[in-house]
Amino acid sequence: MDRYRITAGSKFQLAGIDPDETSLFDGGKKEARKVLEEELNPRLEELQDLLYAEGKRRVLIVLQGMDTSGKDGTIRSVFNAVDPLGIRVASFKVPSAEELAHDYLWRVHRQVPGNGEIVIFNRSHYEDVLVVRVHKLVPKNVWSKRFDQINDFERMLAASGTTIVKFFLHISSDEQKARLEERRDTPEKRWKFSLGDLDERKLWDDYQSAYQDVLRRTSTEWAPWYVVPANAKWYRNIVIANILIKTLESLDMKYPPAPKGTETAVIE
Ligand code: AMP
Ligand code: MG
Repeated sequence: MDRYRITAGSKFQLAGIDPDETSLFDGGKKEARKVLEEELNPRLEELQDLLYAEGKRRVLIVLQGMDTSGKDGTIRSVFNAVDPLGIRVASFKVPSAEELAHDYLWRVHRQVPGNGEIVIFNRSHYEDVLVVRVHKLVPKNVWSKRFDQINDFERMLAASGTTIVKFFLHISSDEQKARLEERRDTPEKRWKFSLGDLDERKLWDDYQSAYQDVLRRTSTEWAPWYVVPANAKWYRNIVIANILIKTLESLDMKYPPAPKGTETAVIE
């Protein structure tokens, strides 16, 4: 899974990663779904329970990707067995007037995980160097300073006991076209379709190069980015689930010892 991790300071080329790739899993779609549901989802559930019980560490998962890249679907599929008590999703939309009246990290910082908690960012502070840059919502001399600011912010979170993992869901332009058409043509999916998505689609190349800069400049030892081939949803799900399991296992968590006297306590 390390092959999808972006090395800090690299000359990384986003176009060099094939969104159709499925090479780390031979079994195909049906088998992948089985592995996800029977092995990976339950393992994540166990690890989340341990994290919550231990109550010492915090986990922050950042999901970014183009429209239709599958951020919502990933959350549904990967965390489907996890206890809702220990997990929280924070979705970042167009900032409100109150949010805009503060620095861009203000709304983000208040959503970071506390002890024992996993928080998933569905979009994130990275929008402030993506959509904000592409649409020129602030001048270059403002957004260009944000890469360092974000690295510092994440370093501070990591130093305070937060494990950070960031995923870019990498789809192709053709795949986005197919998914938008499906939204347009399926009554149950039409609510997700917005004409604004078509204007965004015209800016595809600008977004890809903005993403490439994000991946080059903000993949750090303390908060790595993984670029996940995401044209095949089943592959995206098992790659992300596997990376999260490896990350949580590496924390070497332990259930807390029972308070003194517990074992001999008499329950009348
Ligand atoms: P969705 O994720 O489809 O619900 O859409 C949320 C929208 O909010 C996307 O179009 C984002 O680009 C936009 N958005 C999120 N954060 C920001 C931000 N900081 N500034 C401007 N737009 C944002
Ligand atoms: Mg959308």
